[in-house]
Amino acid sequence: MKIGICGAGVGGLSAAIGLLSLGYEVDVFERAPDVRETGAGFNLWPNAGRAIYGLGLREQYNEIAVKLDRYIELDPEGKQLFSTDTSNWPEKYGAPAVGLYRPDLALMLGDAVGLERIKFNHDVVSVENAGDKAICNFSNGETYEADVIIGADGINSKVREQLIGGVTFRPNEHYAYRFRSVLDLNDVDMDPAAQTGFYAAGGWLSFIPIGKGKAYWFGSVSGANTFEDFIEFFSSWTKTPIPNTLSNTSRDLLVQSPLLDVDGVPYKWTQGRITLIGDAAHPMMPDMAQGASQTFVDALALRDAFANNQDVDQALRDYETNRRPVANAVVKCSQKGLFLGRNKVDPIAIRYQNEIEPVAA
Ligand SMILES: Cc1cc2nc3c(=O)[nH]c(=O)nc-3n(C[C@H](O)[C@H](O)[C@H](O)COP(=O)(O)OP(=O)(O)OC[C@H]3O[C@@H](n4cnc5c(N)ncnc54)[C@H](O)[C@@H]3O)c2cc1C
Repeated sequence: MKIGICGAGVGGLSAAIGLLSLGYEVDVFERAPDVRETGAGFNLWPNAGRAIYGLGLREQYNEIAVKLDRYIELDPEGKQLFSTDTSNWPEKYGAPAVGLYRPDLALMLGDAVGLERIKFNHDVVSVENAGDKAICNFSNGETYEADVIIGADGINSKVREQLIGGVTFRPNEHYAYRFRSVLDLNDVDMDPAAQTGFYAAGGWLSFIPIGKGKAYWFGSVSGANTFEDFIEFFSSWTKTPIPNTLSNTSRDLLVQSPLLDVDGVPYKWTQGRITLIGDAAHPMMPDMAQGASQTFVDALALRDAFANNQDVDQALRDYETNRRPVANAVVKCSQKGLFLGRNKVDPIAIRYQNEIEPVAA
């Protein structure tokens, strides 16, 4: 079996790891020149950990991931609004909630696939079905044929566009941008084993340790389209570490991402021998920190569908039947926003347990 994967992000690399473990011939095509991602931190939940363990990366993952034992929410005065102990989540859910440095994750996945298997500088421009094969065309004029092509090319997926047409994103009703950056753990007074967030109606900012003496912060403010607006919102929160953190943030390390909202993907993920994984299949708001987590779950489900079926088309059907309803439920869940004033939305640690775990099983 020969499988081509478009995109070497979380989805492409984790799919490749699962399919290589079945002894398949796997080629990964990535338009960027290398796999070293920029970016700050990642917050992954137990469902991600379980899938990563299932893909055979338990040891490597535990080495780069910082286990979060507590989840804490405070107000702009630094007074505690909510706190919960998550230290027993490995026993309860099979894996911890963690923080990690995004480039560490990219390198872990890249090493597991083998960099020689990834064809960099390969920009996919179109895909097509051809009987029991699928073909991928690149901007450099090359073509590639395989038994199955997987679109793992992210939120603005070209493969998805070819399969089902474009997706129209709309501005999120709560927040337009997410700002984030990395800092030294010593530069902020925080519990080194906790996710610590500061919340008020209209804006929030959270800190997560990511290992090697580092942490990352991330947050959104309603109506803040620039970093200056963002800083301004928090300027009076002087009893919290936020004003200092923001004024010490180097612009070189600042990441500003637009928040793209869409009502999931009610259409099919698979057409003939071409299917989708990750953000290409289920673009979602990052508020539940489930985008990558769901992507790891996809990769494990894809591997299992092939492991359990000799028939390629049946394997693709099983993968989609298993994953699409769950992923779309998580898309809906992620649209509710974070703290919008007390009582409207529960803290994410509670919502993970009440809304994600029950569908993730
Ligand atoms: C601000 C923000 C914060 C987030 N925080 C979290 C978090 O804490 N936890 C979490 O679980 N999720 C988080 N997410 C979501 C997470 O980043 C995504 O869900 C995850 O990266 C999806 O992986 P992917 O492989 O599908 O897509 P990507 O990671 O986007 O990878 C797609 C890859 O395809 C390549 N590519 C694109 N087009 C082509 C082409 N035409 N040809 C070849 N290659 C191509 C790209 O270069 C890229 O390498 C966050 C998202 C955002 C925006």
